[in-house]
Amino acid sequence: MTAGTGEQRERERGFDHAEVEPRWQRTWDEEGVFRIPDDAEDPEYVLAMFPYTSGDLHMGHVRNYTITDAYARFERLRGEEVLHPMGWDSFGLPAENAANERDTNPRDWTMDCIDSMTEQFKSMGFGYDWEREITTCDPDYYRWNQWLFKRFREEGLVERQAAELNWCPSCETVLADEQVEEDAAGAEICWRCDTPIDHREMDQWFFTITDYAEELLEALDDLEGWPNNVREMQRNWIGKQEGASVAFEIPGYGDVDIFTTRLDTIYGATYFSLAPGHPVAQAIAEENDEVAEYVREAEQADEDELDVTSGVFTGEYAVNPATGEEIPVYVADYVLTDVGTGALYAVPAHDERDHEFAEAHDIDIVQVVEPAKDAEVDPADVDVQEAAYPEDGVLVNSGEYDGLTSEEARETFVDVFDGEQRTEYNLRDWGISRQRYWGTPIPMIHCEECGYVEVPDEDLPVELPEFVQTTGNPLDAAEEWKHVECPDCGGPAERETDTMDTFVDSSWYFLRFLSPDLDSAPFDTERANDWMPVDQYVGGIEHAVMHLLYARFFTKVLDDVDLVDGVREPFTNLTNQGMVLGEDGNKMSKSGDNGVSPTRIVEEYGADTARLFIMEAAQPEKDFAWSPEGVESAHQFLQNLYGLAEEVAEGGADGGSADGDAVAAYVDREIDAAAATVTEEFEAFRFNHALQAVRDLVSLLRRYHERDGADPATVERGVRTVAKLLGPVAPHVTEEVWALFDGEGLLAEAEWPEADLPADYDVARRLVENTREDVRDIVETVGIEDPETITLAVAPAWKHRAHELARESDADNLIGDLMGHDEIREQGDAAASFAQDLQADREALGEVLAPDEEKAALDRAAWLVAEEFDADVVVQSAAEADADLAGNAQPGRPAIRID
Ligand SMILES: [Zn+2]
Ligand SMILES: [Zn+2]
Repeated sequence: MTAGTGEQRERERGFDHAEVEPRWQRTWDEEGVFRIPDDAEDPEYVLAMFPYTSGDLHMGHVRNYTITDAYARFERLRGEEVLHPMGWDSFGLPAENAANERDTNPRDWTMDCIDSMTEQFKSMGFGYDWEREITTCDPDYYRWNQWLFKRFREEGLVERQAAELNWCPSCETVLADEQVEEDAAGAEICWRCDTPIDHREMDQWFFTITDYAEELLEALDDLEGWPNNVREMQRNWIGKQEGASVAFEIPGYGDVDIFTTRLDTIYGATYFSLAPGHPVAQAIAEENDEVAEYVREAEQADEDELDVTSGVFTGEYAVNPATGEEIPVYVADYVLTDVGTGALYAVPAHDERDHEFAEAHDIDIVQVVEPAKDAEVDPADVDVQEAAYPEDGVLVNSGEYDGLTSEEARETFVDVFDGEQRTEYNLRDWGISRQRYWGTPIPMIHCEECGYVEVPDEDLPVELPEFVQTTGNPLDAAEEWKHVECPDCGGPAERETDTMDTFVDSSWYFLRFLSPDLDSAPFDTERANDWMPVDQYVGGIEHAVMHLLYARFFTKVLDDVDLVDGVREPFTNLTNQGMVLGEDGNKMSKSGDNGVSPTRIVEEYGADTARLFIMEAAQPEKDFAWSPEGVESAHQFLQNLYGLAEEVAEGGADGGSADGDAVAAYVDREIDAAAATVTEEFEAFRFNHALQAVRDLVSLLRRYHERDGADPATVERGVRTVAKLLGPVAPHVTEEVWALFDGEGLLAEAEWPEADLPADYDVARRLVENTREDVRDIVETVGIEDPETITLAVAPAWKHRAHELARESDADNLIGDLMGHDEIREQGDAAASFAQDLQADREALGEVLAPDEEKAALDRAAWLVAEEFDADVVVQSAAEADADLAGNAQPGRPAIRID
């Protein structure tokens, strides 16, 4: 049979994805393939970050969920019990906005979105245990947010703290960040009335995640299954700084503590800075109009747009305890109230930001550190008037301490200036209050008499009232809901009208999947101890700090309040998938014209094609651009595979030919090699490499199948193996292929073809590739039009022996060393000449097969050479070959004669 007729047949037949895919989805569902029993011991927990319920599945989702689905299916075939659940991150402002736009309510809108997304997920063939589905806007879920809030509060992890909020003076309401828009000039305005917004300090609910700063930082070192960049982002976010605090006196205002990591530069402090919110700045503002004006403006300014030169001189002076000199005191908004102490001394000579400020305000710049003798920079080249020198070095202009290293000075000065060692973190407490409707009500009641009182556990959940359309915070407008009796004194009281940050929902949802219907606790503790942590977690890099840090924080707290035992990290391995870009290489946009709809692709090509294309395009971490040709190629490949499977399933058993055993052995080895490679690559999340191995195997099987005398059993074993290897990525068509062969049961529940790489596989493969290349070279160079016979001769045993000795030898004189062996020397001139060759190539001598194994490998592969050049191929041992020919052969490089 020629290739032409094969292709023709496939065009006539093919498989119809529109019929095949839903059928297998139903079967998997009916058979409960993806269900995991509660009594499973320690299932492999594979999880994708659950989606926000926008209503539409986009290509980024498809990629994210194909990765976990393929991995989960792979692990299941390998005999693992696999927990692979799905749920909905369904609270948040977009639902509120959509409800306002469509004149409906967030709940109905969200539920519609979930329905449509569920359909889309199912059409992709993702195998989830839908019995474990969770929805965060469901009171059965969010009641546990409230319950956990109370446990955190009992643990001392909930505080009221002042926070800066967006305030619309016209609507007289607090605005969520998402409710603040920018006008053409870049000014922040109210989304409703376009009034420029203010910022106001108001008390809010906070989780004191800073209590865990040190552990969150330290434990990153052990998260070896996480990408380094994510761990580094978390380290920076936590921002640990070791330093010291010392006091500067501001006459009239007393001692002010500062925090610095560079106490060695204290002699160079030429001005002093206070944050606008610092109590001393506030006190000065009461006396000084200019300062008052600056403080007021700073409070309204957006913290994201800092000008490091912005500041106002207060007219006051601080005494530098090192020099005894008075230095000017500024209020500057680059000093953050909640970082360090909110006060600092500034050293323009050794800090770039201070240098910029000093230049703008014409402040003295005094050098107190110069490069050490062994530094790369010559002290003479440092001009601090031009630019700051921020490195450590040796002290100068520092009185009796000149000559100390920076490090020595930092230690010494703590005692000299009566300070103390301190550690500070950039990490701030987690403000969870949101002034919006579509979130978890915070289970607190405010009573004039009793202050804040918790809602008793038996009254949970505090359910959301009906949605009210309002310019401000809808819960504040829900009068009937808001007014309640105080649980303590029975007097009139009001509910907290803020809801929780939706990151609270996602900080523990992975635990709810373990026991989604439990109504006595957020999750079953024993099961969590057995099943956690998540083994493989996959999601976008945009969650590197917030979600992934909050989830770690929650897990540690849950351990500390004994809701889990010894589970201190939620995710053992983390993968951040890259983006699916538009065909033009730009980010796919919803509104732009470069977006590709998964629904359309599934309709046109089927889910398998979309999944295969996405997984072949790149490794999970890398971005890639959508490619219609790539999609077409994936589709064609699947059709071809199915066509081959049909032919094989129908074909009878032909008799083998003379070369049958050797050729079948070659194909057999390739089948096992592909299984071994795919296993290794799947384990490493390099799906694209695995799929290349599958494609190579399918081409080989097609070629072998079309050969006279191919062994049907070998082809069938190959196709069945392909079905299993490809099953995790293209589950529907492979299930169809499996059924063609009366595979027992479902492919989704079959056994993975574990196989070791065949003996000497890589060496043999290199031998065959090199040999084919050499033949090509000769045919081209000599210009042989139509070769009749190609003879390959293996090198004699003594050359193999010499090659082996050369690889082992550490003698300076290799030739001498080799000629010292009788079995080599007795070959005379040939030995001397070969020893010279070995000496010349000594660095590059690779592993080779023994002569008989080399001959066997060439015998197995001879058919490939024969087909490529349409010639007979003869493989000879050195003894069989002409002496002339054999003389040219080298280990791993057979001699070639073409007639
Ligand atoms: Zn407004
Ligand atoms: Zn009360």
